[in-house]
Amino acid sequence: MQSFDITIVGGGMVGLALAASLADSHLRVAVIEGQTPDEHLAAMPDTRVSALSRASENLLKNLKAWPGITSRRLSPYQAMEVWEQDSFARLEFKAQDLSQSNLGHIVENRVIQLALLDRVKQLSNVSLFMPNRCSNMVVGESEAWITLDNGDSISSKLVVGADGANSWVRQQQDIPLTHWDYGHNAIVANIRTAESHQGVARQIFTPQGPIALLPLSEPNLCSLVWSTEPNRADMLVGCSDKIFNQTLTSEFDTRLGLCQVEGERSSYPLKMRYARNFVTNRVALVGDAAHTIHPLAGQGVNLGFLDAASLAEEILSLWQQGKDLGLHSHLRSYERWRKAEAAKMIAAMQGFRDLFDGDNPAKKLVRGLGMQFVGHLPGMKEEMMKRALGITGNLPSLVKVKA
Ligand SMILES: Cc1cc2nc3c(=O)[nH]c(=O)nc-3n(C[C@H](O)[C@H](O)[C@H](O)COP(=O)(O)OP(=O)(O)OC[C@H]3O[C@@H](n4cnc5c(N)ncnc54)[C@H](O)[C@@H]3O)c2cc1C
Repeated sequence: MQSFDITIVGGGMVGLALAASLADSHLRVAVIEGQTPDEHLAAMPDTRVSALSRASENLLKNLKAWPGITSRRLSPYQAMEVWEQDSFARLEFKAQDLSQSNLGHIVENRVIQLALLDRVKQLSNVSLFMPNRCSNMVVGESEAWITLDNGDSISSKLVVGADGANSWVRQQQDIPLTHWDYGHNAIVANIRTAESHQGVARQIFTPQGPIALLPLSEPNLCSLVWSTEPNRADMLVGCSDKIFNQTLTSEFDTRLGLCQVEGERSSYPLKMRYARNFVTNRVALVGDAAHTIHPLAGQGVNLGFLDAASLAEEILSLWQQGKDLGLHSHLRSYERWRKAEAAKMIAAMQGFRDLFDGDNPAKKLVRGLGMQFVGHLPGMKEEMMKRALGITGNLPSLVKVKA
């Protein structure tokens, strides 16, 4: 039996960010991750990428993981264009309007995970169990015990579920889940475009769902996130390259000329999930284990990073006061804080999803006028950009720029 203060189940982006956030403490931390990520990056980027906000960038810099990203691969974007198919509705956001050099970075999820892993491996207070899965979990009055698939046992004051959308920890604790289908699958792929993306992240809203082409490090290569009705997504993943390319080029309004898929296409069902409790006695949830949202605004992992930074802040404060880290009552403020932030994001994503659903002419007019209004009302666009950058609101200190 090995004894720790905190056991993090899931060494994905969010679980590792939490472990790295506990670097400057004497807390003994275990991270259990089921899969060892491949260190080798092929010339063609992975199709799973994230648009990292400024808040996430600040966090990763403060955690000393950012150099591991810049030394691998990342693509800054300087502007965002959003428009609606067959409509006058259009919005453009430029980094220079906020005197910023960019509005964020598109980074492969595996690159983020590898960079955090490099950092976590340097920390003497963190032990990695990888590749290992959990086979059993028992929560007692003052400790929780986890048995691994290799027979090892671990005890700790607090278990954190950072194990993704189908969280094993959440299921072990029978934490109820509010959930609904967005009625979309997201197709992801790499797309070679005839015209250069010029560092602009673009998204078109079509009656069937949004299509985003996110700029990658090569000027004519983009990462596609195409949300559409599940049967159509199956058809688009299974059809020939020729049909796929023709459909995408036309649905994207030939904005970047001819689109050509490179490599594999895959599709993910999109579901809203919101755990009824983010904390129970000796257990806390972070990231996708606690909530999942529609990727249309690219905010899922950004929200998860803020969970990790907020939980670390609470844990460090409890530890400094000599308090029990695992007591539900001690972690209630984390739960209230992050549940409120996740609920706001879920509502916003559902609002967008409903607003842009279908092609009813009256709704379309409202959307067009709304976009014009946002574009012309002084301060409104800047406020939206600040929100997308994640630099407003109740932020944990770990995501603030250090002087
Ligand atoms: C198509 C698509 C596009 C997206 N685009 C964006 C975007 O642009 N920006 C953004 O912010 N977000 C985006 N997201 C959301 C983002 O991908 C997720 O929010 C993010 O991956 C969640 O990270 P996580 O670490 O919480 O979970 P995960 O990435 O799922 O990591 C969980 C980890 O836990 C491990 N694990 C699971 N179970 C166990 C177990 N029992 N034992 C041990 N290990 C276990 C897994 O191996 C994995 O490594 C997108 C999502 C989709 C579907």
